[in-house]
Amino acid sequence: MVREIVKDVLVLGRHSEPCTKNDRQLFKDMEDTLAAHADGCVGIAANMIGVHKTALAAFIGDEILIMVNPVITDRSKQVYETEEGCLSLTGVRQTKRYEAITVEYRDKKFKLHKKTFRGFEAQIIQHEMDHFEGKII
Ligand SMILES: [Zn+2]
Repeated sequence: MVREIVKDVLVLGRHSEPCTKNDRQLFKDMEDTLAAHADGCVGIAANMIGVHKTALAAFIGDEILIMVNPVITDRSKQVYETEEGCLSLTGVRQTKRYEAITVEYRDKKFKLHKKTFRGFEAQIIQHEMDHFEGKII
């Protein structure tokens, strides 16, 4: 189900808790909501649809990848400055991102993966993971 995007910074500022296997509906709703905003949005965090759980949905390649309870286990020394927008905010803001990150995460069936992402894909994941900490750009 496509859910409404939260824009209240007080709600977005709350920390997220780990997902459990009971959160399957959340993963589906995140997929549906990101697909509905595919023109101009590349990722969402669960709290952007009002659920304070550590799950994100991101366009990786042409597909929506759901990352459940992701943890960054390694990051490049190289950092770059960039501008980002967010569906929950208006305009773009300046930020710094790591060029590459290695992430341990579960897929929506709770299978464990470990993968290195670079460039724009790494940037999307870092942005969405900041939402888990209540950080907005
Ligand atoms: Zn965002």
